[in-house]
Amino acid sequence: MRQRHHRTHLTHLSRVRVFLDAASSKTILYRGHEAAQQEPRLLGTVENELGLRPWLESQGHEFIVSDSKEGPDSDLQKHIVDADIVITTPFHPGYITRDLIAKAKNLKVCVTAGVGSDHVDLNAAVERQIQVLEVTGSNVTSVAEHVVMSILLLVRNFVPAHEMIERGDWMVSDVARNAFDLEGKVVGTIGAGRIGYRVLQRLLPFGTKEHLYYDYAPLPADAEKAVNARRVEDLKEMVAQCDVVTVNCPLHEGSRNLINADLLKHFKKGAWLVNTARGAICDKDAVAAALKSGQLRGYAGDVWNVQPAPRDHVWRTMKNPLGGGNGMVPHYSGTTLDAQARYAQGTRDILENYFTGKPQLPANIIVGVGKFETKAYGQR
Ligand code: NAD
Repeated sequence: MRQRHHRTHLTHLSRVRVFLDAASSKTILYRGHEAAQQEPRLLGTVENELGLRPWLESQGHEFIVSDSKEGPDSDLQKHIVDADIVITTPFHPGYITRDLIAKAKNLKVCVTAGVGSDHVDLNAAVERQIQVLEVTGSNVTSVAEHVVMSILLLVRNFVPAHEMIERGDWMVSDVARNAFDLEGKVVGTIGAGRIGYRVLQRLLPFGTKEHLYYDYAPLPADAEKAVNARRVEDLKEMVAQCDVVTVNCPLHEGSRNLINADLLKHFKKGAWLVNTARGAICDKDAVAAALKSGQLRGYAGDVWNVQPAPRDHVWRTMKNPLGGGNGMVPHYSGTTLDAQARYAQGTRDILENYFTGKPQLPANIIVGVGKFETKAYGQR
């Protein structure tokens, strides 16, 4: 017997190289297409469809895949109206707003192929009894590695040094004047969940002086000890002690704009800030101003508010007074080829559980039917 027919609408990353060069938009489209064709492990692309099409179609489901997500004529607006399931990725987020949810008469499940479901209006999903599921843990190591890399490239002043080499110059003192060792530095994380904790684990061998964390969910004492971490209950007090601050909490009402002009004043002068969590956790202009004044020595990350980031987004080009301190990249830390394999498989598992009525992995449930199932999206 054929299973019940579901309409699955997938909007996700199609042009992974969108911001890797500054070509015209036509070239960008072509390059994305080529990359996805040449590399089938780019599963999170429109071209490769998370590897789901043969399986979904063999079961009689309709499967619509698109990267068109903005504006009233977008595919997302058009197809959400009668979709049962919407799959999105955080890398090219289809913003499932309250208005869109109101139009989505059949919608029962939103699946995030990845980690971080803030692009869905979670409160509206609770009210409409729409489940929000994600592939928890699928890319946390990928992101933690990127955070450690970003901390190192800021502290070591790597980007200006490399740019100097490309220019054909060789002025060691120009880059050494703003390069330091990570050894002996105090590092603090905002959020000590899967990613934040992995960052601290990976920093231990660098001989950092101390690890601090700010999180309303305290770590067990033995977990704290294992990563040399001390919880600080007041965020201002924590940032005032840190040479490096890394942001690893979800975006929700309690973390939006958390790093603003006022908080930045409490940072140590010349601190480094790394944010791979979500762009909207930081005030864009306050960060750019802090970098320009030297209050921050560097800012790095891969998340932007909104995505794709506008061409004139100030974070693309902002610099510290010595002309460096910018480690921004497009949103790709959690979408390595290794991560794509994991979140594609995890998405399939979630769909399979849903179609066959099996329970979902508890850790994957952000919003269950009518209620939040995670404590990570704010204290409720
Ligand atoms: P997690 O749920 O394991 O951990 C999140 C932690 O943040 C929890 O301990 C929670 O208590 C804490 N927290 C929540 N709000 C906080 C606040 N206001 N202040 C301090 N701590 C707070 O989640 P995770 O797997 O570690 O992922 C964290 C976030 O990282 C995701 O929600 C997502 O936004 C982001 N992420 C980014 C990428 C990327 O590619 N850049 C990939 C994966 C995840």
